[in-house]
Amino acid sequence: MYIKEIEFVNFKSFGKKVKIPFYNDFTTISGPNGSGKSNIIDGILFALGLTSSRTLRAEKLTDLIYNGDASKKPDFAQVTIRFDNSDHKLPLELDEVEVSRKVRRTKNGYYSYFYFNGKSVSLGEIHSQLEKAGITPEGYNVVMQGDVTQIISMPSVERRKIIDEIAGVAEFDERKQKALGELEVVRQQIERVDIILEEVRTQLGKLAGERDQALKYQALKAEKVKFEGYLLLSKLKDARTELQNVDKELAGKEEHREKVQLLLNERMQELQALEKTLEELSVEIRKKGEDEQLQVKREIEETKGEISRCVDSIELSESELEEADSRRRKAFVEIDSTKGKVGELEEKLKPKT
Ligand code: ATP
Ligand code: MG
Repeated sequence: MYIKEIEFVNFKSFGKKVKIPFYNDFTTISGPNGSGKSNIIDGILFALGLTSSRTLRAEKLTDLIYNGDASKKPDFAQVTIRFDNSDHKLPLELDEVEVSRKVRRTKNGYYSYFYFNGKSVSLGEIHSQLEKAGITPEGYNVVMQGDVTQIISMPSVERRKIIDEIAGVAEFDERKQKALGELEVVRQQIERVDIILEEVRTQLGKLAGERDQALKYQALKAEKVKFEGYLLLSKLKDARTELQNVDKELAGKEEHREKVQLLLNERMQELQALEKTLEELSVEIRKKGEDEQLQVKREIEETKGEISRCVDSIELSESELEEADSRRRKAFVEIDSTKGKVGELEEKLKPKT
């Protein structure tokens, strides 16, 4: 992957649209002082968002907008970098990748936009895309003027680090360290999983036992249900026979009941007839009773008359009796006196001696 073309619009000393082509391998730009060679590097740092560790020679982003002409004051600057991606270092299907950045001056300040293949994206998105091709703000993809002297004068270990970094070894070292770290994490995870696995195995053993037990229980239960079915069937058969017997008995009883009912009906009819006769007789008796009462009353009256007559005659008889009694007493007195006279007479009749 390499830069194929850089396009400047109103960027620093590039007052109009300027396209600079680059070729695979090695490209040198030469020119007099102040002609704008370093502005090209500034454009690259600006467009790729690599300004965090590399200084853009500008106090604020709006200073990057072209201001070289008093009559022409554009309000934006834009730098577009086109990469040749035919080696697909950036894992995309595209053979050409375009990264672009625009800064626009506003009343209150400015706006800055990044574009990836024409699509507006965040700086983070630009970083994560470029990182895939090994382009990072901390990397030495862009080596500044002072960097070379600094690299030469630094201790050898530090320099080795930078060379490793540039050669891409550092990245592999980093990746190796990261991978080792991840490996350690995975190892610990495996340990944990092993412990869990052991627990699960124990649990599994227990569950297998429980499962066997459950299966046995199910089989026995099914058998029990089957036998209970047989039992019920035989009970049903017995019950049916019993039902038939009872039905038969019931039919006999019903027949008997009907006979009895008939008899009862006959008796009832007889009873009704008798009751009717009785009623008639009662009426007759009542009627007769009334006649007899009248007769008795009459007889009573008659008897009463007779009684009073009797009483009368009794009274009469009593008075007659009293009269007779007094006559008798008189007679007794007369008898007594007569007896005395008789005695006197007898005395008188005795011979005198
Ligand atoms: P040297 O050989 O001295 O390093 P150079 O070729 O690297 O020079 P640069 O530093 O890239 O030159 O360019 C500096 C020029 O860019 C100056 O002439 C400066 O006026 C011009 N310049 C910087 N910013 C702007 C701007 N915003 N608008 C117009 N011109 C600008
Ligand atoms: Mg310069």
